[in-house]
Amino acid sequence: MIRRDYLIVGAGIGGVSVCEGIREHDKKGTILLAGHETAPPYHRPQLFKSLLGKRAGSAEQVLVHDDAWFARNHIELRTDTLVTQINLERHIAVLANGQAIEFRKACMAMGSRARRPQVAGGNLGNVFYLRTLRDVQALREVADLEHEVAIIGGGCIALEAAALLSQLPKTKVSIIHRGAQLWARYLGPELGAWLAEYYTAHGVKLMFNQSLSGFEGRTVLKNIATKSGDRFSAGLAIVALGAEPNLGLVAGTPLAYPHGTPVNEYLETDEKGLFAVGDIASYPDRIFGGVRRVEHWPAAVAQGQVAGANMSGKKRIKFDYLPHFSSTVFDLHFDCVGDFSKPATRFEIEGDRAKKKFLVRHYILSQLMGVTFCNQPPEKIEAARTQLREWPRGKKAVAEEQG
Ligand SMILES: Cc1cc2nc3c(=O)[nH]c(=O)nc-3n(C[C@H](O)[C@H](O)[C@H](O)COP(=O)(O)OP(=O)(O)OC[C@H]3O[C@@H](n4cnc5c(N)ncnc54)[C@H](O)[C@@H]3O)c2cc1C
Repeated sequence: MIRRDYLIVGAGIGGVSVCEGIREHDKKGTILLAGHETAPPYHRPQLFKSLLGKRAGSAEQVLVHDDAWFARNHIELRTDTLVTQINLERHIAVLANGQAIEFRKACMAMGSRARRPQVAGGNLGNVFYLRTLRDVQALREVADLEHEVAIIGGGCIALEAAALLSQLPKTKVSIIHRGAQLWARYLGPELGAWLAEYYTAHGVKLMFNQSLSGFEGRTVLKNIATKSGDRFSAGLAIVALGAEPNLGLVAGTPLAYPHGTPVNEYLETDEKGLFAVGDIASYPDRIFGGVRRVEHWPAAVAQGQVAGANMSGKKRIKFDYLPHFSSTVFDLHFDCVGDFSKPATRFEIEGDRAKKKFLVRHYILSQLMGVTFCNQPPEKIEAARTQLREWPRGKKAVAEEQG
């Protein structure tokens, strides 16, 4: 059996950020970063832009660090390595190749996988679920052959894929979405309808108020059927119906709740010495209250760095975080800051949509919960971040003062 001071399960951005956090405070401890994918950690959000667009680039362009960085920082990266078991009483993990690793501290950073709806035909050829570099490379190859593309879903992944694929020559893209606008949760109904017009003007066909019933074809996709009884022909389908946490390693234990792995404000689980970060972590939200799990790149970076520092034993940092993420479609760059998990009761629009420069404030009653920015400068975003960070605490303090 081999022994390491730190074992990190999952070599995505959460896992590699944990390594960075440890190394900041512990230069000597041995670190093993084990990842199931064949690629070293890479920028998942850049996959589409780098590989799907008109000027598709190479996989190397999306790597977070090169080999030299891992060597310089004495981090043992093992790709193509699935951790199949973890024994938290003896601090031993087992790899798919049968090797066992004894560790002092560990962090789970297993991320998510694309949700697969339980419908007929989900395994037919040319039905894609996008999560990994390999998924996107394969899609890119097939998209050169199949020009009738249907995208099921209306979230970020659906909209980004639609925007890029619709710019490829000969490709016709349709979006099948159960809503009646695009991205209404972040933009509100008025600008959600505006974004739908924007997609239509760029040649994307929108099929609203449609829920998927199944994929049809003998071995390869031919049609997509919806619950309303409609049928659309398609040579390629992308299922973009959200993600679910990869918790198979700890399935059936208190570390695998349907909404993720519970951690405390130091990102440690109830099992001493075991931390969890990224898409799987369900953490206490120090700003908006309650517990929260987010599937955002910046959250995985921030959590990894905090968990790594805490694992080193040299620091004890609370995870204090305002959710934010970005997304770019066509020439629209969106930044979303705050809590969009509950439906807003009021949207306030500022700016000029004709110039593609605006922001949308989300309120629940009089409480500002989040702001969506379209092509706005960093100062404005920073100002809103400050306002969002301070206001809920201010409100809480006032409520406490008033008893
Ligand atoms: C196509 C795409 C576009 C996105 N765009 C954006 C965006 O624009 N903005 C944004 O904020 N977020 C975006 N996201 C979400 C963002 O990428 C994730 O929130 C982030 O990658 C989460 O990091 P993570 O380390 O928790 O998980 P992941 O990045 O999923 O990495 C987890 C890794 O762990 C591995 N693993 C799982 N189980 C095991 C095991 N038992 N043993 C070993 N390894 C294991 C997995 O194979 C995977 O490589 C996007 C996601 C996708 C898929």
